[in-house]
Amino acid sequence: MTTSTRHRSPEELAPAAPELTLDPQDWDELRLLGHRMVDDMLDWLRTVRERPTWQPMPPDARAAFDAPVPRAGVGAAAAYQAFVEQVLPYPMGNVHPRFWGWVIGTGTPFGAMADMLAATMNPNVGGMQHAAPFVETQVVNWCKEMLGYPAEASGLLVTGGSMANLVGLAVARSWAAERLGVDVRRAGVRGTPAPMVAYTSREAHSSVQKGVELLGLGSEALRSLPVHDDFTLDVAALERAIAEDRAAGLHPFCVIGNAGTVNTGAVDDLPALAALCAREQLWFHVDGAFGALAALAPDALAPAERARLAVLAQADSLAFDLHKWMYMPYDVGCTLVRHPQAHHGTFAITPDYLARVEGGLASDARWLSEYGVELSRGFRALKVWLSLREHGVDRYAQLIAQNVDQAAYLSRLVDAAPDLERLAPTPLNIVCFRWRAADRDDATLDDATLDDVNRRILVALQERGLAVPSNTVVNGRFALRVAIVNHRTRREDLDLLVREVQAIGAEVAR
Ligand SMILES: *Cc1c(COP(=O)(O)O)cnc(C)c1O
Repeated sequence: MTTSTRHRSPEELAPAAPELTLDPQDWDELRLLGHRMVDDMLDWLRTVRERPTWQPMPPDARAAFDAPVPRAGVGAAAAYQAFVEQVLPYPMGNVHPRFWGWVIGTGTPFGAMADMLAATMNPNVGGMQHAAPFVETQVVNWCKEMLGYPAEASGLLVTGGSMANLVGLAVARSWAAERLGVDVRRAGVRGTPAPMVAYTSREAHSSVQKGVELLGLGSEALRSLPVHDDFTLDVAALERAIAEDRAAGLHPFCVIGNAGTVNTGAVDDLPALAALCAREQLWFHVDGAFGALAALAPDALAPAERARLAVLAQADSLAFDLHKWMYMPYDVGCTLVRHPQAHHGTFAITPDYLARVEGGLASDARWLSEYGVELSRGFRALKVWLSLREHGVDRYAQLIAQNVDQAAYLSRLVDAAPDLERLAPTPLNIVCFRWRAADRDDATLDDATLDDVNRRILVALQERGLAVPSNTVVNGRFALRVAIVNHRTRREDLDLLVREVQAIGAEVAR
């Protein structure tokens, strides 16, 4: 043994020295600070409308994050002060009523407090006999109930839609390989007699491709298929692609349907995809990151979307987010799987140190960690459980309907404005449009110029703190994209957006 690894002898340990702990020395002092933090946060949320939606971080504010790791602590009060000065002034903006960028939910005040409760109990929700896994199981059951998914399905809360897609696709892969007589967990994808191929539309979210890549299939194994004018998957093209791949000796195994594409909110013809998958013996995964929740508000939808979202229960696996259109604080998403055995068989491993014993904390037969990637899992279920109790599902349904109605309202404003042009249909809550010149019929500005003008409109809207839409490309054209998953938005906010786009457009074009 070298001196550098010696243990301290009992005599060297001062017998009277109290042990260290990270608990406060003065609980009352921390209690006061905690009360102040709650007051500050509630005030901050209550007054959010009065502040800019977003503001850029000045160089000084960024530089403050270059400081080295603190060797000695400054205490909770000073640490909180650093948060107030360095972090709180520069929010992303998604708590603001005029944030509509990407697909980013708002969160709620009570949801934030629920996260404090979860962090206080601080359980590991991988499994075992304590309340937290029961909370999560109930939340998953409530999700099934809300979406009409079979009660006997399995499910798991995950970090978000990306992980939810990965989990669903992983089960699809092992299910399909097993039908070929291959244990893909042991043999890997190289063990399958023919390369496995999956299918989705070219409007699918990038996390689907990422999942296919991570599963070792390679992005070439994901057929990115054409869409119709309304950006829904061309089912005839899908059928042709499957037939061609079979003829070429490949093994089609999975179709990924979209319930709400990220660009425009398109809902694929899910009933047709479900029927095709049943016929062709393919796994049917649905990415319903935000759009699946629109099933809660059928009356707000057009008949086509209503009918398509009514068959979510037929998906073999369904991915959706609760931090988007259920307004839960980040992060929380969910995967549901119709085939519990295939789900469990994809992930379960029981090493010695996780073996069950009869009785005691570790006596549960199946742990949640056996249904996904992670072993240690946070208590993200609690904010969902509490928020659903706080408001009830019907209130969420009303808010989802309200967002759909607001998107329709914005579409009408755009369609009625001579200087604006809508670039895509608005089936759910996403509006893609652009500034088009003082008069729509004025053809003096070409598309390249318009792309540039609209890019500058977007940046001005954001940098002036007015609103945050994001951008995308629709049929080759730069689009301002408004995705409303925001329970604070009012119609007047959309009026303001239209006014500002018109004013900035005229200003930039001059
Ligand atoms: C946001 C989104 C995802 C990814 O979900 P995250 O929660 O961001 O990981 C996947 N698919 C669609 C359609 C999305 O909108």
